[in-house]
Amino acid sequence: MEQTIAMDPSKHYLGKVCKHGHEHENSGQGLRRKSQRDCVECKRLHDKNRKRPWGDNRGGWLRRRYGITEAEYDALLKAQAGACAICRRLPADIRLAVDHRHNNGWVRGLLRTKCNQGIGQFDDDPATLARAIEYLLSV
Ligand SMILES: [Zn+2]
Ligand SMILES: [Zn+2]
Repeated sequence: MEQTIAMDPSKHYLGKVCKHGHEHENSGQGLRRKSQRDCVECKRLHDKNRKRPWGDNRGGWLRRRYGITEAEYDALLKAQAGACAICRRLPADIRLAVDHRHNNGWVRGLLRTKCNQGIGQFDDDPATLARAIEYLLSV
């Protein structure tokens, strides 16, 4: 298979074979960036997936992944002016994660992954988060 990765020995080295079986030409070895452990091909596929994780079926993807319709997602996005409900930043990729209440599964809003994980680190507990804010303000 034709591969058009420019080999820059300062950036790439031929490490172990990728666990997903991606090989560099005929060497039988995975092509990796020196700075990261990821296989170059895996990284490329991952990036592509991040940009359009739904492929050509956005509605189906939203329903399966988040249990909401495309119209519901777009309404939320519009209500939040396309930005994260917490940090008000625009998402790095072209989507925001749908945040659910864990006890009843209701959709709370759309968040960047970082903010979604952030509240998760505090077990989605407002009392703990309030103490975290107090702490930040006191020191
Ligand atoms: Zn790979
Ligand atoms: Zn955010």
